[in-house]
Amino acid sequence: MQDGTHICTACGCVAAPERVTKGSFIVELFLWLMFLAPGLIYSIWRLASRFDACPMCKSPQMIPVASPRGQMLLAQVQGQMNAAR
Ligand SMILES: [Zn+2]
Repeated sequence: MQDGTHICTACGCVAAPERVTKGSFIVELFLWLMFLAPGLIYSIWRLASRFDACPMCKSPQMIPVASPRGQMLLAQVQGQMNAAR
């Protein structure tokens, strides 16, 4: 993935989001081996709960820089950086 495609609404960093999957592969494997149905449900849950997290603060609130809100936030963050200089 390209760098800096998303902006974090929590900390304002511009980066490529990190793909985070909840749960663990070991538990998934165990459920599949022991009981088929819970394994299937667990797999679906893991896929459904997957989200793009900020690599800096782990917040799931990352939005594309190209979106109108992303542009607004980017301008805000850059304005703050200029003011600090
Ligand atoms: Zn962040």
